[in-house]
Amino acid sequence: MDPVRVVELMEKEAKKRKAPVYHLKAEIKTPFQHLVAALLSSRTRDEATVRAAQNLFSRVKGPEDLLQMSEDEIAELIKGVGFYRVKAKRLKELAEKLVKEYNSEVPLKFEELVKLPGIGRKSANVVLAYSGIPAIPVDTHVHRIANRLGWVKTSKPEETEEELKKLFPVELWGKVNRAMVGFGQTVCKPQKPLCDECPIRDCPKIGVK
Ligand code: SF4
Repeated sequence: MDPVRVVELMEKEAKKRKAPVYHLKAEIKTPFQHLVAALLSSRTRDEATVRAAQNLFSRVKGPEDLLQMSEDEIAELIKGVGFYRVKAKRLKELAEKLVKEYNSEVPLKFEELVKLPGIGRKSANVVLAYSGIPAIPVDTHVHRIANRLGWVKTSKPEETEEELKKLFPVELWGKVNRAMVGFGQTVCKPQKPLCDECPIRDCPKIGVK
């Protein structure tokens, strides 16, 4: 099946099953919010990221607001996420860098984003993709599903990213991550994927355990 068609099916199925990633889309809109949410989301379920982001964004509109707060105050607002004390510290460092070096704006360039505290390759690509700039963020869902479908044979997320960029037209890159993450959350799960209910009938890994 054509990968573009497969991504359309994944998106449709994930939305039908109310995948958490589509709640994130509704709650988190600006580049600053995406940057902060990406930092909050590591080793954390999407539902907990959304709750923490809602708490934080009720008090924080930009990096200056974070600078006004103590680490303890920030930690209290985000304490549903993993490593929340470390992340509170990173958020302060991030805010300081944005204010001092980027005039309180989020730099929308990959090379600049990965220089920010707590922001790695995947998070930088999330900020770009969700800000309308072509990028394919590869998390564990995207990496697993691309390998299960036989689109790639890779061991590292960055290799998957490069292969997926060759597979999809650039205008679709922004859609690929959300559709695959949503599909991974609801159907093609890490353990016991719902192959019997899967709309992708020619997957070589049907029934994978
Ligand atoms: S058939 Fe199973 S392994 Fe293949 S994409 Fe569907 S859920 Fe995933």
